[in-house]
Amino acid sequence: GCGICIKKCPNQAIMIIGLPDKLADQLTHRYGQNGFSLYGLPQPSPGKVSGILGPNGVGKSTAIKILSGQMMPNLGEKDTTWEDVFKFYAGSELQDYLRNVASKKAKTAQKPQYVDLIPRAFKGKVRDLLAKADERKLLGELSGQLNLTGLLDRDIGALSGGELQRVAIAACMARDAGFYFFDEVTPYLDIYQRIKVAKLIKKMGEEHNVMVVEHDLAILDLLADVVHIGYGEPGGYGVITHPKGVRVGINEYLKGYLPEENIRIRPYPIEFEVKAPRDQKVVENLIEFGNFSKTLGTFRLDVKGGHLRKREVVGVVGQNGIGKSTFAKLLAGEIQPDQGKLDYNVKISYKPQYIKADDAEISVRLYLRSITPQFDSSYFRSEIVTPLALERLMDCNLNDLSGGELQRVAIAACLGRDAQIFILDEPSAHLDVEQRTLATKVIKRFAENNDVTVCVIDHDIYMIDLLSDRLLVFDGEPGVHGEVHGPFDMRDGMNRFLSSLDVTFRRDEETHRPRVNKPDSSLDREQKKLGEYYYLP
Ligand code: ADP
Ligand code: ADP
Ligand code: MG
Repeated sequence: GCGICIKKCPNQAIMIIGLPDKLADQLTHRYGQNGFSLYGLPQPSPGKVSGILGPNGVGKSTAIKILSGQMMPNLGEKDTTWEDVFKFYAGSELQDYLRNVASKKAKTAQKPQYVDLIPRAFKGKVRDLLAKADERKLLGELSGQLNLTGLLDRDIGALSGGELQRVAIAACMARDAGFYFFDEVTPYLDIYQRIKVAKLIKKMGEEHNVMVVEHDLAILDLLADVVHIGYGEPGGYGVITHPKGVRVGINEYLKGYLPEENIRIRPYPIEFEVKAPRDQKVVENLIEFGNFSKTLGTFRLDVKGGHLRKREVVGVVGQNGIGKSTFAKLLAGEIQPDQGKLDYNVKISYKPQYIKADDAEISVRLYLRSITPQFDSSYFRSEIVTPLALERLMDCNLNDLSGGELQRVAIAACLGRDAQIFILDEPSAHLDVEQRTLATKVIKRFAENNDVTVCVIDHDIYMIDLLSDRLLVFDGEPGVHGEVHGPFDMRDGMNRFLSSLDVTFRRDEETHRPRVNKPDSSLDREQKKLGEYYYLP
């Protein structure tokens, strides 16, 4: 089976499973009298990088806030004191840990989840923000490693999301602390930067205690030694498990069943197919284009010609600053090429990478209705609204939504517009693993059912792998020159893309998920020799 059947279980994005009885006496924290309840707590372990993997709304950030000393766990009671907390954790390692955090003996540093909010809290230059954080005198080194040197004299307010993310990561790493917490590291970073950050965090873990919440499984796999699984009923309650080895933990998570705890956390497994994409029986082109190019300031984009088919999903991969958005704007006719021309007439709907809802005192319902001609149709409801779990958000204001909620609304808005080509720029940002899987399914079915083309720019290899029929590959030098090649079939496209990154992947034996090979391992060397960067067929 497909593993992810939207038709049969319309509300699977919100899973309702009872709280296991044996956890009832492990209540760590409850917001208000009947608010969200967190059970269990991850355990920082020395010399290891611990990951936390789980859906949005099961208390991962809450756990991080407790462990980093921003919040006292209230054990579900109003007048809990630290003494009660120490008593509750008596005899466990968490007791010592929390004692040290409460008395500030243990120093913690953390990178917040939403980097988009940093410019509101900090006005000034990148250099000033980093100088304030640089307790370990690592600024020079980190600026080089995270490519920040050229940004130091820029205003924080003028940075792109990917730049802010790297600055925030550097600021956390530069602190002099015993315990480091990163609440998501990959949003807005390209694959090259993700792998770089993963290696830096792994290295930190050799000497420090590091804990990371992350939804990009290829990157989590690379940076963590162990993972804690989070599960529950998003917004209702959440449970954080004991640590598991990173490979086993991710596999159990994907399968939806935790054998040790004997609990099913999702009614369906998330599966990867290792085979050629589905046959496209009638291959009909939607648009064809010849050579064209465009210069913007010091950046030049060259396109060698190609075509997009009806009913296909094209994955778009390439580094940040290589011209992907510029290409989208050219296709959409928003800007004109300097050389060559695009002479077709199709409408393009575009979801930008950064979604802003600053001044949006408008409900999700009114917003979607205003841009989507078919908002009230049963098609839109059953194919878009229900699988993206938007029903219960309809009366919320846009500016009250979390990052993941806003992302799902933006995907629905993009697919709801009247167009033939739909371009989604980084739809995975702030979505959890199940939401990525469901969004993937929605996007695929949308292209098939409507005879349209969907292009998805994304840096999550899992999402690209699940989603794409073909791949458009950008290469060149970020900020200077970009070239567009393809679309290729998945194998050729991935080989081309991954060889430029010098990274090889293999397939996990159990779940067939893509895993990064250790550099210079025998598999890595063999695959490079054969030119099979994605996996050995
Ligand atoms: P995650 O990081 O796994 O997405 P969070 O820890 O951010 O989850 O939130 C878990 C739940 O707790 C959510 O339903 C959220 O709305 C709720 N929550 C978070 N912070 C507060 C708060 N300060 N007061 C009340 N509820 C909160
Ligand atoms: P990507 O989407 O791959 O991250 P973009 O297409 O947004 O890349 O940008 C490619 C390069 O072109 C970047 O270096 C960007 O700074 C530059 N650029 C984009 N728009 C303009 C513009 N209007 N003027 C000058 N440079 C621009
Ligand atoms: Mg969170």
